[in-house]
Amino acid sequence: MKLVKFSTVIILIFFNCACTNAQQDKSKVTQQAVSNKNTNKVSSLKITTLSTMLANQGIGEWGYSALVEVDGKKILFDTGNRPETVLQNAKDLGIDLSDVEDVFLSHNHGDHTGGLLTLRKELKKLNPNALIRIHVGAGIFSQRVNSENRMLAMKEELEADGVEFIVYTEQQELFPGVWITGPIERIHDERNWSGNGKIETDSGTIEDNIPEDQSLVIDTKDGFVLISGCGHAGFINTLEHIRSNIHEEKIFAAIGGFHLLSATDEHLEWTANKLQDFGVSKIIGAHCTGIDALYTIRGLLNLNRSDAVVGSVGDSFDLEKGINAGSIAK
Ligand SMILES: [Zn+2]
Ligand SMILES: [Zn+2]
Repeated sequence: MKLVKFSTVIILIFFNCACTNAQQDKSKVTQQAVSNKNTNKVSSLKITTLSTMLANQGIGEWGYSALVEVDGKKILFDTGNRPETVLQNAKDLGIDLSDVEDVFLSHNHGDHTGGLLTLRKELKKLNPNALIRIHVGAGIFSQRVNSENRMLAMKEELEADGVEFIVYTEQQELFPGVWITGPIERIHDERNWSGNGKIETDSGTIEDNIPEDQSLVIDTKDGFVLISGCGHAGFINTLEHIRSNIHEEKIFAAIGGFHLLSATDEHLEWTANKLQDFGVSKIIGAHCTGIDALYTIRGLLNLNRSDAVVGSVGDSFDLEKGINAGSIAK
């Protein structure tokens, strides 16, 4: 497993090689995963939504962010859309972000990265090491055609400020029981992206399928908990990736954005069948999941209103207490 600093490698090489590397390493990793019986399990976990559309406390916006508190560590998952939203929502919710050193970015889009610079600027006044490490998937810095990849300018500014970007080409255990998926193979044709974007490569332009899209997955006594930003790699592709590359285990909770907002009834039915196979029984469908899609899937999975909810600012998932929905989403 490789963990590579951006400064040492040209990202286009990452992008071009990511699939080959993943294939080469897959048999090794799968073997390791299958034989690894002593997997690390976390004992405490709380995930609190800091940015999504629905809010009865704080500010709602088109975007996503969540604070992950796991075994005494804090990880900021994505940073919302508008520069001030996550900072302000955390204040409104009485959440201290100044001791968060690790940021996980699911992908480059502005609705997940828009708060990053403001958060670093404000939080470093309280702690120089706030948001000092940023974990990203290979491809996040790729030059997009006819649209600005704001990650490139942000990278320059943040690195000059002492922040380190860590780029993943494959899955990696960040802390015991806390896994970064790295970029995800697109086994099923979920096509959860606009189709309008292009990426510049050495061999010409290719469709931008947001190759860097990655998720965070936490290994608990009850199974895996998945946290997804916008689900561009596909909900089911992400679950398959976890099973093939980390280890086989029930994925009992799925939290975040899953990009089902414009999915057809057939696609939702297919998705629900797969979710059942994976053992998903708790869902916070925030951001781009789609409100109707969440309710449709809840019905198809026979889940009740305390186990599958629309995400809202300030709601939470706790390993012991389960989902605490916002009052607007109860
Ligand atoms: Zn996106
Ligand atoms: Zn998004």
